[in-house]
Amino acid sequence: MKYGSVEYQYARPIAQGLVEDADFRRWVLLKSKFSDASEARILHREMKAHRNNPTAEWWRFYFAEGCRCLGCSGKETDIFAMFEDAAGFRFAIHFEIKQPKDKFKADGVQARGYPLRAECWARNPPPRVLRHQGASTGIFLSETKRTEYALHLGNFQTQITFEEIERHFPHLAVWRPDNN
Ligand SMILES: [Zn+2]
Repeated sequence: MKYGSVEYQYARPIAQGLVEDADFRRWVLLKSKFSDASEARILHREMKAHRNNPTAEWWRFYFAEGCRCLGCSGKETDIFAMFEDAAGFRFAIHFEIKQPKDKFKADGVQARGYPLRAECWARNPPPRVLRHQGASTGIFLSETKRTEYALHLGNFQTQITFEEIERHFPHLAVWRPDNN
């Protein structure tokens, strides 16, 4: 449940970009295992309506208290995004946001939970999550942390750096001190 304000500075514009910037959404999906569905629409409205939590942003505060599997127990997805392609195939991506001053605990539990949780929810979604047929994982991180995070990164099928976003989508990189 903890969600530091620095993490939010990165998570919020990325989540908004997935909704508001079709080029950014396509760019992210092309880096995912769902690259064939890069034109998929995002289901932020459907997610929000289904969850029926007026105070929570559509992407935030996703955890499954009712499931005690290793993927769900005590863990949270930082940005949960669901998409639907033209054929009606629905898929979700569980994104971790590691802001540059953050780190993984050495036990590896947090990172390993992501693919397990993605599978768990695709099989049997928590009550507040729409049913979906496919799922994957992703991480947004700083380029400077690749070596430090090396042992954890294999759990994330899509890996995107903040620096890449700064280069290609500078208007989304509002975390930069010179971009406010
Ligand atoms: Zn579970």
